[in-house]
Amino acid sequence: MPKYVFVTGGVLSSVGKGLVTASIAKMLQVRGFEVTVVKIDPYLNVDAGTMNPYMHGEVFVTEDGGETDLDLGHYERFLGVNLSKYNNITAGQIYKQVIENERKGVYLGQCVQIIPHITDEIKRRIREVGKRGYEFVIVEIGGTVGDIEGLPFLEAIRQMRLEEGEENTFFAHVALVPILEVTGEQKTKPLQHSVKELRRIGIQPDAVIARCREPLLEEVKRKVALYSNVAIGAVFTSYDVNPIYKLPLILDRQGLGDYICRKLRVEAPKPRWEPWINILKKYENMKKPVHLILCGKYVKLRDSYKSIVEAIYHAAAELDVKPVLHWVEAEDVTSPKYVSEAFREVHGVIILPGFGLRGAEGKINCITYARTHNVPFLGICFGLQLAVVEYARNVIGLREANSTELDPNTPHPVVTLLPEQGGIKELGGTLRLGAYPIKLIKGSIVYSLYGKEVIYERHRHRYEVNPAYLPLLRKGGLRVTGFSLNSSRVEFIELPSHYFFVATQAHPEFKSRPGSPSPLYYGFIKAALYKSLRLDSPFRKLVEGRRVN
Ligand code: GLN
Repeated sequence: MPKYVFVTGGVLSSVGKGLVTASIAKMLQVRGFEVTVVKIDPYLNVDAGTMNPYMHGEVFVTEDGGETDLDLGHYERFLGVNLSKYNNITAGQIYKQVIENERKGVYLGQCVQIIPHITDEIKRRIREVGKRGYEFVIVEIGGTVGDIEGLPFLEAIRQMRLEEGEENTFFAHVALVPILEVTGEQKTKPLQHSVKELRRIGIQPDAVIARCREPLLEEVKRKVALYSNVAIGAVFTSYDVNPIYKLPLILDRQGLGDYICRKLRVEAPKPRWEPWINILKKYENMKKPVHLILCGKYVKLRDSYKSIVEAIYHAAAELDVKPVLHWVEAEDVTSPKYVSEAFREVHGVIILPGFGLRGAEGKINCITYARTHNVPFLGICFGLQLAVVEYARNVIGLREANSTELDPNTPHPVVTLLPEQGGIKELGGTLRLGAYPIKLIKGSIVYSLYGKEVIYERHRHRYEVNPAYLPLLRKGGLRVTGFSLNSSRVEFIELPSHYFFVATQAHPEFKSRPGSPSPLYYGFIKAALYKSLRLDSPFRKLVEGRRVN
């Protein structure tokens, strides 16, 4: 039977509860336990896929095709494991299931209610994840204590303590302790109120983790302990750290890992932190500045591209590179010249994933700049599709070429709907999602980076390069260097005689980990580094050598 650690939040959302949750999981993992993590999202969407990234940040895609909360990305990166769509439970899934059950007659004769029907379904789903052989299930409850939609989830975990027993359940509460600008004081009142609200619901936290810019002062800690009804040894601080991967160590040094084990009455071996510390050491040497343009339409909320930024840093840490990220709002790029006018130095351009018309022409302008100025280029998903549109227009000469997502009536639909998408009416969870095998072509940049012929990368798209235009595009010099294994759809493209011009229909950022970066991002950062040092392309032999298509 697994033990459960529940993590709740107070005062504000987005204070790093996901990172604390990932850190707790990591502390248990380095003690040799089998650990998994569940994120609960109390919104009514069935999954995160139908939300604008402005609302909720990046949609993280799992190996099995779940469109999930970005916290799953933190969990995967901290633990170095692949999670499943079942590790993200939403209120939408719970209510949908209960209502479907009711229609089927599962609860015949009963009045269907939040308690027990909704709470039972919540508990069933949490336990279902735990059944797969784990010793610990860490469960993060999204939102903050006091949100109306979060109540059934708090009620469910309150019941789980009674049903599973005290030695099998642990409650950790994470809440903000702001520092007043004027006086520099650490203020605990909002935290006190959130703990009070939690206790009113029937949950007494076992540990309180203050989220504060700096470590809590001793007298502040005492106050937090007193008002939270816990011992002073049960108060911890999650303070600002860079990189975020240091957080588990910082919390462990304060004793959180041992405290959880003691409370849950498990004999815990000494933590083995060396491999993790070795990864962290690489982050200390990031010295060589490399200027990267990241062009997209959700750039005002950086969380929209969380995994991409992490993938850049994973690669940069291996290469001693200090990435300088220049976020470019796609709509601002009114001509390719804009880039040279707005930036003194550019060593790499990434076109970020995306949907829809807004900003698409600006992204195409960025691509033209990168292509014609020999600047390392990486196109991700929509970035590949737009690179193909750019090539068709400006190299092949099909001036009105476009994707049918952007112009359904284009005379040259070089990017079209995937054939299997034709009859699909519903928009939730119906994209081409999750990991699919890709066959890489020998002699290409991507083959040299991945070092094998068949790779698996995750996907999230509805459109693809139109196979009818492939002969023309290839004749015009575009190389297709990766195909989907079974249906030969375009997965990677490259340009010959360019410093580094690679785009993919997939999202390799989702599988990048600290200490084990995505090969594609590694190659791109390496190219950008060489560019910044005014060296020849590290891939020169490949891009100028054999034809690969
Ligand atoms: N909008 C494009 C499609 O649906 C690309 C999606 C993406 O970048 N994730 O195919």
